[in-house]
Amino acid sequence: MTPIYDRVALIGLGLIASSMFWAMKRGGLAGHVTGYARSAETRDTARRIGLCDKVCDTLAEAVADADLVVLAVPVGVMGQLAQDIAPYLKPRATVTDVGSVKGHVISDVAPHIPEGVHFVPAHPLAGTEHSGPESGFATLFDNRWCLIVPSEGSDSEAVETLSRYWRGLGSNVDVMEPDHHDLVLAVTSHCPHLIAYTMVGVADDLRRVTDSEVIKYSAAGFRDFTRIAASDPTMWRDVFLTNKDATLEILGRFTEELFALQRAIRQGDGPLLHDYFTRTRAIRRGII
Ligand code: NAD
Repeated sequence: MTPIYDRVALIGLGLIASSMFWAMKRGGLAGHVTGYARSAETRDTARRIGLCDKVCDTLAEAVADADLVVLAVPVGVMGQLAQDIAPYLKPRATVTDVGSVKGHVISDVAPHIPEGVHFVPAHPLAGTEHSGPESGFATLFDNRWCLIVPSEGSDSEAVETLSRYWRGLGSNVDVMEPDHHDLVLAVTSHCPHLIAYTMVGVADDLRRVTDSEVIKYSAAGFRDFTRIAASDPTMWRDVFLTNKDATLEILGRFTEELFALQRAIRQGDGPLLHDYFTRTRAIRRGII
């Protein structure tokens, strides 16, 4: 297959960037891939496992010849990173990101993108609870959605080429507005993570049940429900700090529903509980 981009630079060599690399290799989507990570230890690991055609020790070297630059770092540092790479970007290059929040990332990154360079934000709806350069795998994006969230003035040809690239990585592609993206993700991803973290916190706080009992007797509910609470704390701290409005709105609604169910339990209102679980089970069964 003819590469979609001649040269790609991956910045931040964690789960998402490493999976992109293996998927790019599988699909022949890039001629040459450079990588940069902040820590020397991550760069050494990347070299050891053959992640990227070249792992660079400086940002400047990693992005200098790139046709596509992928920002794959926590959302809280995207703006600073964009500022740092700006002087080295090639004219007509495309800068994209994979951040889980879009409104905040766009307002942080867009002002640093030089004239003549395209900025096309994106978010692959794929992940695991693992992180770091060794956690990636080529099939992560297969049959998952990637949302392209063009910022004001995103070049339509750059949007089309990036969409083709994501389809090559295995994803289905949709285009979405930033505010709508952040609300949808607050309900489908961000708040579920917060609630999973909270459930583990509750178990930890319960003095009459020891941590070793929680681990030993972890029944399907706790085990399935809290898997995502093993996710990277820096990434999730940044998600909540940067998607404040939408996550607070969804948490407000969640709290109202929880209070209603709490009252139904106290009052022994079986029909209410049964109706609620019947309705929500039908919705959940619609998700494969
Ligand atoms: P990760 O923790 O596996 O990797 C992040 C990498 O960025 C690490 O190697 C870290 O050292 C590096 N890094 C941090 N600050 C940096 C800086 N200032 N400069 C250079 N490198 C820096 O995380 P990940 O899961 O690959 O997430 C990366 C991005 O993808 C995040 O913005 C996240 O919101 C988004 N995302 C994650 C998932 C998921 O489920 N993990 C899914 C979709 C999108």
